[in-house]
Amino acid sequence: MGAPRLEVHLGRLHHNARTLVERLGARGVAVTGVTKATLGSPEVAAALVAAGVSALGESRVDGLERLRAAQLGVPLVLLRSPMPSQVERVVAAADVSCNTEPDVLDALAAVARRHGRVHGVLLMVELGDLREGLLPADLAAVARQVVASPHLDLRGIGANLACQSGVVPDVENMAELSALATGLETSFGIRLATVSGGNSANVAWAAGADTLGRVDDLRLGESILLGTDPLDRLPLDGLRTDAFTLVAEVIEAKLKPTQPWGAVGPSAFGTPPRAADRGLAQRAIVALGEQDVDPGDLTPPPGVTVLGASSDHLVLDTGRLVLEPGDEVRFGVGYRALLRAMTSPFVAVHYARTAGAVSRPRAPASG
Ligand SMILES: *Cc1c(COP(=O)(O)O)cnc(C)c1O
Repeated sequence: MGAPRLEVHLGRLHHNARTLVERLGARGVAVTGVTKATLGSPEVAAALVAAGVSALGESRVDGLERLRAAQLGVPLVLLRSPMPSQVERVVAAADVSCNTEPDVLDALAAVARRHGRVHGVLLMVELGDLREGLLPADLAAVARQVVASPHLDLRGIGANLACQSGVVPDVENMAELSALATGLETSFGIRLATVSGGNSANVAWAAGADTLGRVDDLRLGESILLGTDPLDRLPLDGLRTDAFTLVAEVIEAKLKPTQPWGAVGPSAFGTPPRAADRGLAQRAIVALGEQDVDPGDLTPPPGVTVLGASSDHLVLDTGRLVLEPGDEVRFGVGYRALLRAMTSPFVAVHYARTAGAVSRPRAPASG
């Protein structure tokens, strides 16, 4: 098998999605599975659908079009506000899109009318994180516009926190979202099908809050894919954090001094910190770099340290481990590393159908 490659353990993803679907389902909350870090991988999406997610969410139209072509049998949601230049593709690929701009809604309605369709709309509300969202005071007017259009269907409202300013979902802001939903229902005499409380940063809130109010949906990416809470990057209870493994190949392995010699200036990617002199150490270079992955977001095998990275070289101190060219080293990935590996044309993706629930020790670096 070639390297670098990203191994995707579909059974572990299924386990994570299933666990969250059951845990949140017990509280009346459905899961929209967010596959955007995998660029809308149909294999990943199928594992999530098999685990019971009620919809699939993507930020980019390209990802949605991949999911549409895979015919997965659940509604597809565009999470990022549509680009005005893409409204045709949005109506074709998405059942529902998240929106905040009246003019874009008009454009979506016009396209939907031309194709004899009704496009679903989730209006995003600003609750303080200051990324996307209508200010609460403007929500009713835009909802009125959507309700008035025969080619738009107001599916509900949503909010997104913890992405721009780090504002944490809590009892107050989630209660505000519920109150806004109830207010719209009273004003317009309608029932909103969806009140989407947020992303993986909402999982802890949903587990602990006394009442979830009107929130009946969460859009979950990181918690399913990596098993972690984006608020502290720690594992969530009962979830697998090893669904993705990045495998890279050794191209040099030598015992070398720990301190550089010669006059030292800035390197290609900034000024390296001065290394302590620890005599000789086992160093290895793997054929992996900034063009493949975010090197700072990798977890090396136990006993191995990442010393630095440039475009195509990742330099390791391998401790007691003696490697040779051709050996493979396996890394865990964080969200940024996953995203870049999936996006890089140099990283192959391999799908493995290993079971999810059985706990296995972390794979060591191996030859
Ligand atoms: C990416 C995204 C999500 C999923 O976020 P995770 O933290 O990966 O769960 C949910 N909603 C919106 C609007 C997003 O852009």
